[in-house]
Amino acid sequence: MLRLEEVHHSYDGRPVLREITLELAQHRIGVIGANGSGKSTLARTLNGLVVPDKGSVTMGEWDTRRHARHIRRRVGFVFSDAANQIIMPTVAEDVEIGLRSLGLGREEIERRVEAVLTRYGLDGHRDHPGHLLSGGQKQLLALASVLVTEPEVLVCDEPTTLLDLRNTRMVHRVLEGLEQQVILFTHDLDLLDGFDRVLVMDAGRVVFDGVPGDAVEHYTELMDGR
Ligand code: ADP
Repeated sequence: MLRLEEVHHSYDGRPVLREITLELAQHRIGVIGANGSGKSTLARTLNGLVVPDKGSVTMGEWDTRRHARHIRRRVGFVFSDAANQIIMPTVAEDVEIGLRSLGLGREEIERRVEAVLTRYGLDGHRDHPGHLLSGGQKQLLALASVLVTEPEVLVCDEPTTLLDLRNTRMVHRVLEGLEQQVILFTHDLDLLDGFDRVLVMDAGRVVFDGVPGDAVEHYTELMDGR
């Protein structure tokens, strides 16, 4: 389980996260909040992309400050702009790259790549350049490239921001079907239906922590008051 203890982070002396203490145990956790409230920074602390100035982020015995590599193997991260995650000449190679460091045999790598491409409807594109995929397919490729490594936790930072309604629904269905823990940072409040817990962020703090309906109400009131 991911645990944050008194996490504090500043950019150029300006606090962006303030004294955040959380135990992230539920299967599906959402995080919402206005632009600039600190969501992306918080998301990045969960797998060590950002190491907080003060406090700790741990998963069991691992700490992102000292064991970032171990944590990254367990905590997968999907960015809002999938194009950032497409780096290899073909779709299959993009999926494969994340597996290379896991010490798997050639056959196991090929088996996993085939399985994940088929599961996400990308098998017909295995030898195409990822850049030529549609926006929705790019996001599926980004998800597939992370999920193929079988992380225990998937952190998604606004994965549907650049997608149209059809592709947003497709990503929603993928996230709904996952067995692993999902921590979803989003502006798309509809994606939170059925979530176990939703946190609301404001000015670097978690100002509400509860069920989705109550969290959305709290967030709406917060925005209406501005
Ligand atoms: P959100 O995801 O809720 O929009 P962010 O975590 O992206 O919030 O940003 C919180 C604040 O930190 C914003 O004011 C943003 O401009 C600032 N910020 C984010 N990343 C950096 C960075 N790498 N360097 C300096 N300031 C940053």
